[in-house]
Amino acid sequence: MRVKVDADKCQGHNRCFSLAVELFDVDEYGYATELGDGQVPQELEEKARLAAANCPEFAISIEE
Ligand code: SF4
Repeated sequence: MRVKVDADKCQGHNRCFSLAVELFDVDEYGYATELGDGQVPQELEEKARLAAANCPEFAISIEE
């Protein structure tokens, strides 16, 4: 699984980072990016889905 943040949609709510600090990073304004190449270790897949489901801008996509 892989996560990706669409920078055009992200509004910097910081929610993904709070929910899955292992998968996302935020800049000083709260805008998020996926960490590294976005690859999600199996044990973090639930967290990745949770973060995607909780992004109010639908900016996080998941590739299975
Ligand atoms: S929850 Fe969504 S809008 Fe908020 S920082 Fe993360 S990707 Fe951006």
